[in-house]
Amino acid sequence: MSPQPEKPTLTSEQLTRRLAREKKARAQAEKLLEEKSTELYALNQELHQNVRLLEAGVINAYDGVVITEAHMSYHGPKMIYMNDAFLDITGYTRQELMGKDTGVLYGEKTDIRQLKTMRRLLKSSQPYDGELICYKQDGTEFWMELSIAPVPNKDGEITHFTTIARDITDRRNYEEELKAARLKAEAANMAKSEFLATMSHELRTPMNGIIGMTELLLDTSITDQQKTYAQTVVSSAESLLNIINDILDFSKIESGKFEIEPVPMDLFKTIDHVVALLSPRARAKGLKFERSIHPDTPQYIIGDYVRIEQIIQNLIGNAIKFTERGGVALEVSLADEPRMSSAHIQISVTDSGVGIAKGVQDKIFDKFSQADTSTTRKYGGTGLGLTICQQLVEIMGGTITVDSTPGIGSTFCVTLPLKIDEKQGELAPKPLPTNVVHAATPAIGLGGGRKYHILVVEDNITNQMVVEGILERLGYKVTMASDGKEAIKCVEKDIYDLILMDVQMPIMDGFEATRILRQMEYNDMYHIPPIIALTANAMKGDKEKCFDMGMSDYIGKPIRKDEIEKILSRWTIAIRDNHKA
Ligand code: ADP
Repeated sequence: MSPQPEKPTLTSEQLTRRLAREKKARAQAEKLLEEKSTELYALNQELHQNVRLLEAGVINAYDGVVITEAHMSYHGPKMIYMNDAFLDITGYTRQELMGKDTGVLYGEKTDIRQLKTMRRLLKSSQPYDGELICYKQDGTEFWMELSIAPVPNKDGEITHFTTIARDITDRRNYEEELKAARLKAEAANMAKSEFLATMSHELRTPMNGIIGMTELLLDTSITDQQKTYAQTVVSSAESLLNIINDILDFSKIESGKFEIEPVPMDLFKTIDHVVALLSPRARAKGLKFERSIHPDTPQYIIGDYVRIEQIIQNLIGNAIKFTERGGVALEVSLADEPRMSSAHIQISVTDSGVGIAKGVQDKIFDKFSQADTSTTRKYGGTGLGLTICQQLVEIMGGTITVDSTPGIGSTFCVTLPLKIDEKQGELAPKPLPTNVVHAATPAIGLGGGRKYHILVVEDNITNQMVVEGILERLGYKVTMASDGKEAIKCVEKDIYDLILMDVQMPIMDGFEATRILRQMEYNDMYHIPPIIALTANAMKGDKEKCFDMGMSDYIGKPIRKDEIEKILSRWTIAIRDNHKA
């Protein structure tokens, strides 16, 4: 073994140098350590301060704050912290809640579905926001708004949930009260609309008597003066009827029972009809009345011609009413290029009348609202016409606007989206429903001078007199029945060419009677003639119901001689043709 080399011994000079170096290094290390400790201390202070602030925020928060563990038992996670506000909200002491599951707060009325959603979201580390019925320590229930967020550790693992909780009972109660008040108001409004509908329906029945009897009176030999009086009765009754119809329409729209019925229609014919109807009124006031239809306007469209006519009639009626000098112009044109068989049709009515002040132009579309009550007193009116027009236009998906200058005049402009009827020209007069053309078996050969025999089923005595008077004057033989049961007895005994059937009757109504008559026909027991409904019920769906029940046509009340004549001649022609065939 070779001997170890001897360590060189340091000289005292070398030793002194090394010591000096080591001292310097230690001093540097100590300085660094001191700096780092100061820095660390400052950081620690800051952190402490932040934690204190955060803690103060949580402790003094107005909202309840709860921290739970992430692990969830069947009754929810364990609470490990709650602030004072949460204790105030729930009425528990800290000792009572600490370490308990959140389930202690829930009870009978707590929404289980919400709890399940909450559980599912939290289990998949997602936050949950919701409102739940919870229970205080003394069992009082209250609404709690909860906002729960998962808290991950530095590895992303969820270790806790934090919950912000708020007692929202007052807000929920207020919302419930508002909802109840709204429902009550809606019910009251509905009741009002239904009352108006019933009232106007009830009013139409006596109007039937007034107009019908006066028209019969006009057909008798009376003096010219008596004729003038009777004509005034008819025209006053017609004005009253218009108001009743407006109220009926309005209440139908308000109660949501209104629907439009689009069918193929001839727009030009509709326009000409209104023009023919209202030009005498314009002429009587010495006003010019111009009508122009732009050449591009499609003639055949699919629309609710009754309602389109009503809108135009209303606007022209107002224009004539509020104009003393000059004239009224109706202009119909296309508002844009037709696309995919659809077009926007623009109908504008311009007058040189009193005009409407700018400030009230919007209000005239409000119900019962008139631009100027002094003007209104002079011209009369209910303030419903434009409301109905606007609502009808809106139901059809269109718009109505007004442009007016007081003293110069007004322009009302309606734009309606309408389908163009490609099968134009195939527009036939209303076809007879094929399923219900049941030829009567006349007792004596028709054409041999025999009178058509009509069974009228009507409970109201005045209406009976009106219908009987009109029919006899038109040359029909009439048998009267007061209700459905009586009508069936009549059909069992005699043969009729037509039945005019009231719908609303005591003992047996018109629908039930029709159903039984059609059943008798189906059983091949009897030949049942066409049944035409007579009804004051102008509600949407009534017409369909009449057809569905096996009726063949429909006459609205009040019954007018012209209308009954038109419908009956159509049906008696049908019966005759059917018989010939
Ligand atoms: P009214 O039955 O009163 O005519 P409307 O709803 O049709 O009800 O009209 C409401 C109000 O709008 C009218 O009372 C009138 O003040 C104003 N108005 C309507 N059309 C015209 C018009 N062409 N010129 C001037 N004012 C009009």
